[in-house]
Amino acid sequence: MILFVQILCIILAVLLVILVILQQGKGSDLGSAFGGGSSNSMFGALGPSNLLGRLTWIVGSLFLILAMTQAVLLKNLNTQDNLNFPEQEIVLEEKTLIQNGVIIDGTGRKPKKESILIDNCSIKATGKDADKLADSNDVIKIDASGKTIMPGLIDAHIHVTFDEPSSNDELFFHRREALSAIIAAYNAKKVLYAGVTGFCDPDSLHSIGVDLRDAIKSGYVEGPRMSVGGNALLTSVGGTAGRLIPDEGLRGYAKIVQNKDEIVTEVRRQIKNGVDWIKIHVTGLIPNQKEEGEISVWSFEELKLVCDLAHDLGTPVVGHVRNAKGVKDCIKAGMDMILHATFMDEEAIDLVCETKTPIVPTFTFQANLADFGEAIGASEDYRQIFKKEIDDNAEIFKKIHDAGVPLLCGTESGFSITPYGEWHYRELEVFIKDIGMTNLEAITCATKNAAKSIKMENKVGTIEKGMLADILVVDGDPLKDITVLGDKTKLSHIFLNGKEIKREEEIKDITPPQGWRLSPYSDGILTQELAKK
Ligand SMILES: [Zn+2]
Repeated sequence: MILFVQILCIILAVLLVILVILQQGKGSDLGSAFGGGSSNSMFGALGPSNLLGRLTWIVGSLFLILAMTQAVLLKNLNTQDNLNFPEQEIVLEEKTLIQNGVIIDGTGRKPKKESILIDNCSIKATGKDADKLADSNDVIKIDASGKTIMPGLIDAHIHVTFDEPSSNDELFFHRREALSAIIAAYNAKKVLYAGVTGFCDPDSLHSIGVDLRDAIKSGYVEGPRMSVGGNALLTSVGGTAGRLIPDEGLRGYAKIVQNKDEIVTEVRRQIKNGVDWIKIHVTGLIPNQKEEGEISVWSFEELKLVCDLAHDLGTPVVGHVRNAKGVKDCIKAGMDMILHATFMDEEAIDLVCETKTPIVPTFTFQANLADFGEAIGASEDYRQIFKKEIDDNAEIFKKIHDAGVPLLCGTESGFSITPYGEWHYRELEVFIKDIGMTNLEAITCATKNAAKSIKMENKVGTIEKGMLADILVVDGDPLKDITVLGDKTKLSHIFLNGKEIKREEEIKDITPPQGWRLSPYSDGILTQELAKK
């Protein structure tokens, strides 16, 4: 109706203007119709000079003003109409409804049977809303009857560039730069195919992590979400590789910083190059060691310098720490996440409980050596040492977990003891068996809690409306048997960022490049006595 009045007004205004022109044209030229002869007045410049013409001009202008007012009214009314349209149809893009499955949402809440609707990259709705929205849209439906729907696993401690070395010698001296990058891309895919949709790689060989993360983000390489460090910072005392670490410069994943100037330069350099984390090897091994665990090889002032500098540049700091002093120094220095954190004393426990600094115990390496070391030729003594590290620390971790300190699941995948795509469920199993968590609590550690390690808490790690859709559909119940998460044949569907991962055939027959693996002549020393036995 308003539109009709508006059109009518415009037509009348145009007709009147034509009438004025015709009237003026009778007695004078076209110029006087609009110019009003030689008049210089405002009115004269715009309007006609005779009375009838002037009247017609005024009525025409009024109609024009009326038409413009109608147009504004119409526009406002349309906006109002839109606001009053609650039932407006939502058109979904790429959408999948997963229904009939039991959802473990990663928050620690009790599981329940309901649907999830994935639209494009995120979770559009859960429960009845998901079913309702799916009804009015063309969606792909996945029947998850008898299955579990849960967030993708997040592994808070992986070394994707190491490629499963069996010794520090192999790791530090047998890894070429370009080949390491290419093989890391392949290994990232293996990790994703095992249901890990995100991981933290705190330090990488030749600082490859940043580039691999970016290649995955850009879609050149298929792999999980990554958050990465560059070279780990070590003092010249070294880390866990003893004398293999030189007094200065670079070696494998390590950058040796000798003084405060070098610390400042290196932290700034890494942040400039795009790391998500600065990693410090706070403790290491020396030959004449009297303490349990490892010895602190950084001073508090040095740790504080790294933390302050990195924080000023908006970058968090993570530390490898295996003793009480190291944990205390790191927390006082403001460190954001601690790997291992074993052998804490009462004071360290109190500090951790106060600051609630996320801890990644990373027992998988030790647990695998202790339980299955025999299969790969590890000595009994060696196995006992690692078993003891878990036994001595289990109570402490139970205590800090009960106090609300976030424990994150990290597996140290990347060594021969912890190959890619194999053991990402294992830390959950250790948390359950040794720390005494329930299966549900362990799943929270590997999902919601671990999202902190990739700096994506509130974006991934839980199944809730609005979260990014990193989702697993598991054929089984991890609340009854956590090892189902380690069985790739039971992973019915893996979604990353709302897209289902198709999982092409994994390459099975791999022959490592020459000089890549250590090729020892023997396991032992060939004495005559042994030869003649
Ligand atoms: Zn590590």
